Amino acid sequence: AKSAGGNRFELADPEADARAITRHGLTTALPTALERGEFFIEYQPLVHLGDGSVRGAEALVRWLHPQHGVLGPDRFIPLAEHTGLIVPLGRWVLEQSVRQAREWRELQGGAEVVGPLRINVNLSPCQLTHPGLVQDTVDILERTGVEPDALCLEVTESALIGADDDLLKPLRRLAEMGVDIALDDFGTGYSNLANLRRLPVSILKLDRSFTQSMQQFPADPVDVKIVEGIVSLAHSLDLAVTVEGVETGAQAEQLRVLGCDTAQGWYYARPGPPERLHELALVDATG
Ligand code: C2E
Ligand code: CA
Ligand code: CA
Ligand code: CA
Repeated sequence: AKSAGGNRFELADPEADARAITRHGLTTALPTALERGEFFIEYQPLVHLGDGSVRGAEALVRWLHPQHGVLGPDRFIPLAEHTGLIVPLGRWVLEQSVRQAREWRELQGGAEVVGPLRINVNLSPCQLTHPGLVQDTVDILERTGVEPDALCLEVTESALIGADDDLLKPLRRLAEMGVDIALDDFGTGYSNLANLRRLPVSILKLDRSFTQSMQQFPADPVDVKIVEGIVSLAHSLDLAVTVEGVETGAQAEQLRVLGCDTAQGWYYARPGPPERLHELALVDATG
């Protein structure tokens, strides 16, 4: 609250003031943070539910702030979206992640059992509407020599609700090239399921709320029916289903039985440095 006007609500909520100041401080620090290399990426494995093998990873960005320490994306992605910095930041994340994927693939040296590791990268709605998306992605794949098949772009269900053809066009182009598009946080956006046919997606990422309801055994029968329905619809449309937020073996087992294809969560590994992902994949490949 500003002290101008001497109104009686001033400083009523000092914590809100502190938050506002931090928000303002973080927003103004964002552009230099990118120049100074204060962002880094953690990778969380994506595990095949059928055989437990590591198939790839999701890239999750963090900010090592000189005063506040490590900040999670929920603290700064909304600010970056608001100021437009998300476009160069997102491009940076994409390039770093694709480079990392190439490095893993080189380390694997063709000795992999289940195929080269793949990389998932989150796209914010602002990047979707940015005219450079397709060209930037093509450039990054060419510069790094990584084939489009190795890349999956994650777009939230809510970003695509009511999407018109103009918005879908760049995603269609990328999908035609072989890039996978995943519908993130699926099941939270009240989207028309029939609408799925229209979207150039090949993967549904079931929202964590479904995984949470598989915590108890047996799980709530209504939730089980919903997941069953989503999986059977997805498979009939040739879409793979990934589940996120898997924290226990019981969840993994129930979701596997329900036909989900891939899982991600603390049960397997927390997001971590790239070396960790490579170790996990290696242990996995050698038994
Ligand atoms: P998301 O895409 O839904 O990513 C999954 C989030 O769940 C991550 O949070 C991850 O650390 C967390 N998570 C993973 N396993 C578990 C688990 O077993 N239990 C629980 N409770 N949580 C788990 P994180 O890293 O804080 O990221 C939050 C969100 O920030 C992401 O949600 C994504 O929407 C966004 N984000 C992260 N990196 C980027 C990026 O490079 N670009 C954009 N545009 N958004 C990003
Ligand atoms: Ca995601
Ligand atoms: Ca593909
Ligand atoms: Ca998600």
